[in-house]
Amino acid sequence: MKRLAAAILIFDVVMGLLILCVYENKQVGNWVNEEQNGPGTQGAQTAVSKDIRQADGGNVDSTEEKKIALTFDDGPHPSYTEQLLDGLKERGVHATFFVTGEHAKLHPDIIKRMQEEGHLIGNHTYSHIQLRKNNRDQFREELILTNKVITEITGEEVQYVRPPYGTWDKKFETELNMFPVLWTIDPLDWCSSNADCIAGKVVEKAQENDIILMHDYYESSVEAALEVVDELQAKGYTFVTVEEILFD
Ligand SMILES: [Zn+2]
Repeated sequence: MKRLAAAILIFDVVMGLLILCVYENKQVGNWVNEEQNGPGTQGAQTAVSKDIRQADGGNVDSTEEKKIALTFDDGPHPSYTEQLLDGLKERGVHATFFVTGEHAKLHPDIIKRMQEEGHLIGNHTYSHIQLRKNNRDQFREELILTNKVITEITGEEVQYVRPPYGTWDKKFETELNMFPVLWTIDPLDWCSSNADCIAGKVVEKAQENDIILMHDYYESSVEAALEVVDELQAKGYTFVTVEEILFD
């Protein structure tokens, strides 16, 4: 009986060790799988969506230019906008300016310069009004008035609008024949005076066909925008107006 008991004990111990061994292997196996399926899979998804983005842009050949657009709201500012225009000219960059009617009226010479240097000019309402349920008519009037102010300076019709705070009514598109332009990167440049920090946020996020929202109403934004141009041009990006991003 003692021998039998000893044999059973040995059998139990061996089986116990075997089960433990299998269990541990499984644990290690699961852990590896989680690693592979976790961040690895996400990385693959990111790569796929990047490929789709490139395919969408019709830019499969990596030697073709990568387009990106800088847009500036709220101007023109009497000195910072000119500073920005100088920097853009030096770098051969075309941007899009969404100006308020109020500021355009104060600085028609700057609007004229934007046009002469190949930038696109859009409408940002007359007084930077936000569209709400109870002010549709006023908002509409501001769009019409701002178009008039810009057209009197440039002689050209205004087709693009950046609605302040991004609130928009699609019916305006047919009523006024205007096209809204929102954005894909917003570095919140208006709440920081650190140009390097603003530029860093943009460069980190930038991808082909992005529309970057900035303001030519602050010195730090202007500095940041020119830093963004230098860094992204070095990475092979070409700066274009929003028209080229939206319709090419
Ligand atoms: Zn604005």
